[in-house]
This record gives sequence, C-alpha cells and structure tokens, in this order.
Amino acid sequence: MNINYQSWKAYVECPKKYFLRHVEKKPPLVPTNDYYRLYGILVQQFFQMFCNIWRFKIPYMPIEEVRFKMNVLYKNLLAVSQVTWPQSGPGQDEILEQACLDTFAVMDGQNQNYFLNTQSEVDISVTISSDVNINCRVDFIHKDALDEKSILIFDGKGTDKIGKNIDKNQLYFYTLLYYKHTGTMPVGIGIFYYRFNTYSPIPLDGKIMDSFQTKLSQDVTNMVSAPIIATPCSKSCKYCEYRPGCPESTQYFAKRAKPSKLDIPDGVTEFSF
Ligand code: SF4
Repeated sequence: MNINYQSWKAYVECPKKYFLRHVEKKPPLVPTNDYYRLYGILVQQFFQMFCNIWRFKIPYMPIEEVRFKMNVLYKNLLAVSQVTWPQSGPGQDEILEQACLDTFAVMDGQNQNYFLNTQSEVDISVTISSDVNINCRVDFIHKDALDEKSILIFDGKGTDKIGKNIDKNQLYFYTLLYYKHTGTMPVGIGIFYYRFNTYSPIPLDGKIMDSFQTKLSQDVTNMVSAPIIATPCSKSCKYCEYRPGCPESTQYFAKRAKPSKLDIPDGVTEFSF
C-alpha cells in the first residue's frame, strides 16, 4: 500500500472520499476546472526544470529565454488541462505573461545563484512495514552552500493572497518523511509565494513534529485496517467530486436543512428543536 500526502489528507477529510479517489480511482462526478491552477502549475513546472536541469547548462537565464521556455511548457500544460475560461479575470495570454514576470523576479531576487543549491519536485519514500510505503514529492529542498546539513524545505504557492489556504500539515508531512529518510531535521520550513517573491516561515520544533508523527501513525494504522466509513461535513463535502448521489452527504445536509416555510402547519410560527 502506498500512502502519500494527498491520500492521507483525503482520508482525514472523509475515509469514503479517500477510498473512492485513491483506492477505487473512481472518476470524478463533477466536471473539473483547472483554470485557477494554471498559473501555479506552470511556475512550478518551470522551477522543476530550472533547478534540476537548466540551471547547470545556462549560468544566467535572461527574461527572453524564460518566456520562450514558459511558452513551450504552457502549450503542453494547456493540452492536458480541462479549462473553463471565466468571463472576467486573466485570460490565457495574461496568465502566461504574469507567470513569466513573476518567475523571473523570483530568480533574479537571488541573482539566480540560490537555485544552484535547490532541488525541485524531490520524491521521498519511506517504508514503514513490508506492505506500507509513505511517499511525498517536495516542491523545493534548499541546501546552504556552506553547510550541507542546513536544509530548508518549502512549498511554492501561486495564490493571489499571502496566508490564503495555508496547509501546515503538508509541510509537516514532508518534513517528517525527509527526517526519516535522511536523519536530518530541516532548519526551517515555509511557503514561498511566487506572485509576491516572498517566503513565509511555518513554526517547526520537536514538540510539533512529535505530535504530528503520533497523529499520522494513528491515521496510517486506520487506513490499513479500519473499516471505511463516510464522515460527511460541510467542509469535506463542499468540493468533494463524489457528492452527487452520495447518500451519507445527502442525509447529512438534509438533517441540517431548515424546514421550509411551506411545511409549517397553520398556527405554528416556527419549529424549535
Ligand atoms: S460527499 Fe462527503 S460523505 Fe460523500 S464521499 Fe464526499 S466527503 Fe465523503
């Protein structure tokens, strides 16, 4: 059994969602729209190539070259994405242009040298029993040029607001696996906001990691052996791709629904529960 961050997260939200998405691999029942993810995926794809390959061949990449390479990546990305273009908001060309400018600003903020010691999209796998592996793919791992043990792990975000949709557990998940794999605890973890060229640290200490490891161990034990039971709630079901026709979700929302005024008998002004 392979567990990664996405499957663990789905399990924590609702075991049934995890089972449908990651075990049965059932296709989504609601149409997907990649529009809001295009910018982030494009920038991340660029950095994956830049950090791991291009940086060593091209000592300094000018903006024209960034634009050229981004164009190629963007064409390929659009070819495999399902995009519904909104009536307002950045269009196809504007997303590309913004991604080029922001990426170049990030690279040039460090005179591009920072990326000599940075790897992107790094796969880490930890075997915890004969049939369970835990895996992750880390956006960025940076090693200090003067101290190999001084490691920074960070996650790139394309959000248009600093602090929006922060998922600290994702970084704790990466950190724990990195530590189990290498025996080295990173000196820092955080979020890098591409649009703002800004790094925002996430708190990290032994106590936080101990409690995260306890929680993850318990969840992994349940994923392996506990029965799959749906745990509907507003947050988990809101964007769940299996919500249409999900009886547990339907029941949950029916119970929470306020009675219609049409159902209130004459003489009764309101129901009390
Ligand atoms: S709709 Fe809700 S209850 Fe049903 S699988 Fe999704 S998250 Fe679980």
